[in-house]
Amino acid sequence: MDNLKVVVIGAGIGGLTAGIALQQAGYEVEIYDRVKEMRPVGAGISLWSNGIKVLNRLGLGAKVARIGGIMDHMEYRTKTGELLNDIDLMPLIHEVGQRPYPVARRDLQSMLVEAFLGEVHLDHKCVSVEQDETGVTALFENGHTAQGDLLIAADGLRSVLRSYVLDQDVEPKYVGYVNWNGLVPADEELAAKNTWVIYVGEHKRASMMPVGGDRFYFFFDVPLPKGTPADPEQYKTELKQHFVGWADPVQNLIERFDPNAVARPEIHDLGPIDRFVKGRVALLGDSAHTTCPDMGQGGCQAMEDGLVLTNYLISTNISVEDALKRYEMERTTRANAVVDKARKRAEQIHGKDPEITQQWYKQLATEKPSDVTGAIAKVIMAGPLH
Ligand SMILES: Cc1cc2nc3c(=O)[nH]c(=O)nc-3n(C[C@H](O)[C@H](O)[C@H](O)COP(=O)(O)OP(=O)(O)OC[C@H]3O[C@@H](n4cnc5c(N)ncnc54)[C@H](O)[C@@H]3O)c2cc1C
Repeated sequence: MDNLKVVVIGAGIGGLTAGIALQQAGYEVEIYDRVKEMRPVGAGISLWSNGIKVLNRLGLGAKVARIGGIMDHMEYRTKTGELLNDIDLMPLIHEVGQRPYPVARRDLQSMLVEAFLGEVHLDHKCVSVEQDETGVTALFENGHTAQGDLLIAADGLRSVLRSYVLDQDVEPKYVGYVNWNGLVPADEELAAKNTWVIYVGEHKRASMMPVGGDRFYFFFDVPLPKGTPADPEQYKTELKQHFVGWADPVQNLIERFDPNAVARPEIHDLGPIDRFVKGRVALLGDSAHTTCPDMGQGGCQAMEDGLVLTNYLISTNISVEDALKRYEMERTTRANAVVDKARKRAEQIHGKDPEITQQWYKQLATEKPSDVTGAIAKVIMAGPLH
């Protein structure tokens, strides 16, 4: 279909990637976000090869390689630092045809904003949407309205447009753990600079991985009840207590990070839901399928969504509604499978059934590295760009 105008709500990874893909297909695109200033939530993100392939397809491959960290190995260690498994990632890279890149979220956002030609309309909180057989209108809190042939609701975990699409409220579920994440200067005293290291024990994780600019993206995961207080002044004390007795690099990391630059989300997921589309309105990214971060796939799935949606608009010619239904059919199957898998993985890692987590610790020590990379490759190759 030619000459479409698309309204995108949300300028996160999903909305921006979709906006760039749609522009490159020749469509007119307007992106709106409720925030007054573009500031990503969270410090880093590991983009697996399926996400990077989408960026390659959009001509951003060289740019993401510049902001990405070189991750050649994955290392699992016990809480006291003994090596459980050293996984060479080269076989994975050769199997799937593309290196993964951990990146700082701010760098990723800048790259995507720069690649989107035109302004992202900030301080525009969408409150509702209306549609008829000729088009769709978004209504904003500030009184502005935006018309298009279709609307993409890329408005994240707490989507306001999800209930419109689903005709019911679906609430995100708390997965049972809290994550602290930030950036620190890379240092061999903390971890090898080409390695993603993950310390595991007591259903918790402490981890570092390289991102561009000679920095490590780090995170800590701790199972906790929902609603525990989040006060940056307490982060170090809190983490020292949760990780007492853990290896020196973990203690070192706690000493070094700047608590005021650390995000502390309570981890939620959403779905699987069987509908992403209502007429001319499509959910995309976390609004449709918020995914536990334990597979590093949520953002990658949002990127895949944008590419697939654009491809159906370009390559089919029945109607906008028909193209969006095709998008829904393909993406509910793919993204929901990832949501399910990531939740199971989160439960395995974070002690939902402590016996299963203990078995996982044992398995880490004996597992063949090729089994680990094979499982990651399977997820990557099930994406639209195999
Ligand atoms: C701790 C953690 C670690 C993660 N690690 C990884 C990883 O390693 N790899 C990976 O691929 N994924 C990871 N993810 C998942 C990834 O961050 C998300 O899947 C991704 O950011 C979703 O992008 P999105 O654009 O759909 O939503 P968001 O990034 O949430 O963007 C939604 C946007 O919509 C805007 N918005 C919301 N409501 C409105 C409104 N009413 N009007 C206008 N604008 C609105 C918001 O301001 C926001 O800018 C992780 C998530 C977490 C929490």
